[in-house]
Amino acid sequence: MVENKKIFDLAVIGGGPAGISAAIYARRGNFEVLVLHNGGGSLEKAHKIENYYGFKDGISGAELYNEGLLQAENLGIAVKKLEITHFEVNSDGNFEILAGEQKFEAKSLVLATGNKKLRPKIKGLQDFEGKGVSFCAVCDAFFYRKKNVVIIGNGKFALSEADVLANVASSVKILTNGENCDELKKLNTKYSIDERKIEEIKGDENSGLVNSLVFFDGEILSTDGIFIALGEAGAADFAKKAGIFLDGDKIKTDEKMQTNFPGIFACGDCTGGLLQVSKAVFEGALAGLSAIAFLRNKAGNYPKS
Ligand SMILES: Cc1cc2nc3c(=O)[nH]c(=O)nc-3n(C[C@H](O)[C@H](O)[C@H](O)COP(=O)(O)OP(=O)(O)OC[C@H]3O[C@@H](n4cnc5c(N)ncnc54)[C@H](O)[C@@H]3O)c2cc1C
Repeated sequence: MVENKKIFDLAVIGGGPAGISAAIYARRGNFEVLVLHNGGGSLEKAHKIENYYGFKDGISGAELYNEGLLQAENLGIAVKKLEITHFEVNSDGNFEILAGEQKFEAKSLVLATGNKKLRPKIKGLQDFEGKGVSFCAVCDAFFYRKKNVVIIGNGKFALSEADVLANVASSVKILTNGENCDELKKLNTKYSIDERKIEEIKGDENSGLVNSLVFFDGEILSTDGIFIALGEAGAADFAKKAGIFLDGDKIKTDEKMQTNFPGIFACGDCTGGLLQVSKAVFEGALAGLSAIAFLRNKAGNYPKS
């Protein structure tokens, strides 16, 4: 584990308009800010933005995204491109954010990870949510003691979920459901990987619980539990593990973008509502200001002059 010695005042997970806006406000309050992002947010995918203030000919989403990162760096914000798998609270009450072998520490945290679609389209998946289909290994692993489980996923996030489950389950297998898994193959040394597409999830008629899944080639795989960890961890994944309240897969906040967890704020698409750049920037500003208020209220944490 590479521990970065510096303790930041604020860490922001997400480098889109919400995360960068939060970071800018906190930095301009004279705090030390770190932005962790992994590219590929919604903004980067937008071909052309024509409804955001200030660009007479519109601007491509990728260009706006990069300009945001540069603006942050120019203000002295540390920006790092890494995939975050989870975060923990340490004995000092600070947040430890983990990205593979790297660990960062901060006194407050903003979640701005965008609008991640968690659910793969597999027949039966929705029917078995909470009855053998789970979206959070830390929350539900204990139910699968000495049982056989599979993870549907294709990257670092799937591996970190597998590591949690491997401590309690008797077998853990990763199913990529036909998704690209080059990165997973490079990193994985422990778990068997099956790349076939899954047609259906089935359950036991009596118990109503998951008992198998069927691949498109007709083969049936028996399993007691199915954990969904596709792509990278999103705000809802982080939230579930930390006990942050959700509304569906969106983070619940008050009007100041505070979550129920002191020191953790959320903004942008991950809080739901209008999924637009203007709303992400607005909420980011509020989250940044709330982080400043939180930091100032913490004893001895007034900004340096
Ligand atoms: C095709 C398309 C077209 C659009 N067109 C418009 C438009 O014309 N006008 C408009 O206003 N809006 C448009 N939008 C919506 C707009 O892009 C979003 O509302 C806005 O980008 C939300 O900002 P955000 O910061 O909340 O999230 P995002 O822009 O999605 O940024 C999320 C950030 O989180 C990071 N992240 C996520 N998970 C992790 C992880 N595990 N580790 C590290 N980093 C992580 C990503 O790398 C990224 O930096 C469009 C969206 C799409 C998809």
